[in-house]
Amino acid sequence: MMDDKQLALDMRYLRMARIWAENSYCERRKVGALIVKDKRIIADGYNGTPVGFENICEDESGQTKQYVLHAEANAITKLASSTNDSSGATVYVTDAPCIECAKLIIQSHMRRVVYSTEYRLRDGIELLQRAGIQVDYLPLED
Ligand SMILES: [Zn+2]
Repeated sequence: MMDDKQLALDMRYLRMARIWAENSYCERRKVGALIVKDKRIIADGYNGTPVGFENICEDESGQTKQYVLHAEANAITKLASSTNDSSGATVYVTDAPCIECAKLIIQSHMRRVVYSTEYRLRDGIELLQRAGIQVDYLPLED
């Protein structure tokens, strides 16, 4: 059960993730993710192209390029070059994780996922739940 204090904290991190998403130069969709462990943000990410690539996410036809990294993937790969450990961490992400990010979240031994916007596909959420990860949908009121 979530208490009021935890709920207030969750809403605060989700709002921070939403603000962080503003860093994204992608036009179709801006997604932000924060990885929190012991009330400390240990990694952050937003969707975008890999390091060294042009800061343009969409191709000429307006489609998202295949090599654009999702916010969760960017946050998780940041951990690879840090001393932080994501075991037992919570990921706060503006949009429901896709199946590719769900796999990364599972392999990173995270305990919980909190998101505020539903995605048309549910396979990512279902995979997370199947792996025993707590998934909480918390819509943000504007
Ligand atoms: Zn994803």
